[in-house]
Amino acid sequence: MRYILPSLCHQDRGQDRLMLKISNSSAGNTGVWIDGGIHAREWISTSVVTYIADQLAKNIENLPEYITNKDWYFLPVLNPDGYFYSHTSDRMWRKNRARIGNAVFGVDLNRNFGFRWLPRDNDCHGDDPSHLNYRGVEPFSEPETAAIKDLILYSGIPFKIFLTFHAYSEVISFPWCFTSEPCADYVNLLEGATAMAKGIYDVNGRMYKVGNFKDIMYPATGTSIDWSYGSARIPFSYLVELRSKQYKFLLPKEEILDCCKEIFCGVKALAQFVDKKKCLNCTMFYNKNCL
Ligand SMILES: [Zn+2]
Repeated sequence: MRYILPSLCHQDRGQDRLMLKISNSSAGNTGVWIDGGIHAREWISTSVVTYIADQLAKNIENLPEYITNKDWYFLPVLNPDGYFYSHTSDRMWRKNRARIGNAVFGVDLNRNFGFRWLPRDNDCHGDDPSHLNYRGVEPFSEPETAAIKDLILYSGIPFKIFLTFHAYSEVISFPWCFTSEPCADYVNLLEGATAMAKGIYDVNGRMYKVGNFKDIMYPATGTSIDWSYGSARIPFSYLVELRSKQYKFLLPKEEILDCCKEIFCGVKALAQFVDKKKCLNCTMFYNKNCL
């Protein structure tokens, strides 16, 4: 099934954002959200999301129930105008292509989600349009973030997993981004991240670090995982920083497939872990297999 998110970018080429849903259309399925390319220069994230979608589409009949009992929603290029610009003009472009005044400064879409957008806490550059982390004039001011909010909050899809892919740090992080205080599901999120890290490690021996985003990265406000967990109440919300610590944003093409394969294995491990958790605590999540 092919989706086009309703709000379109109005800058530059105004390119559509295309979503893909893969599902066996079973009524009891929960939802999995997977996006890439929120930051334009992080090209490997789009490759990984596309690879996972391709693997599911080709093999859905042969995959285990913890995969087939979910509806999978893919948004491989969340920020298409920025992505295009990073291919044509500035390889290191991060933000979208929002015009502010007479210039295209762009907004950091991963600072534009409406959870703890105010106060800024430690994110002291959020109001400077020329800064890499400019957060926009208000929460969800950008068509890219507003469309995601509308789809997740108002579609009625029971999302239980939210995965957003970035590069580069080789890290699996979870809320919160704005504070080091543990969130209510800290232990579950840590266990899920560890299951995913184990799945990744088993493929090529690549070790991904796990933890609260602020603890293992840096403080940030208005991020998509703080919003998906804190506002949309998606219990397993993760931000994954892909390869590579060595090459940063310029991952050699020889590493792309290895990265995709190990992350696919990690995502499958997370899906399995989430189902095990559901069976341990049927009051938390609906699961037809538990009833
Ligand atoms: Zn990023």
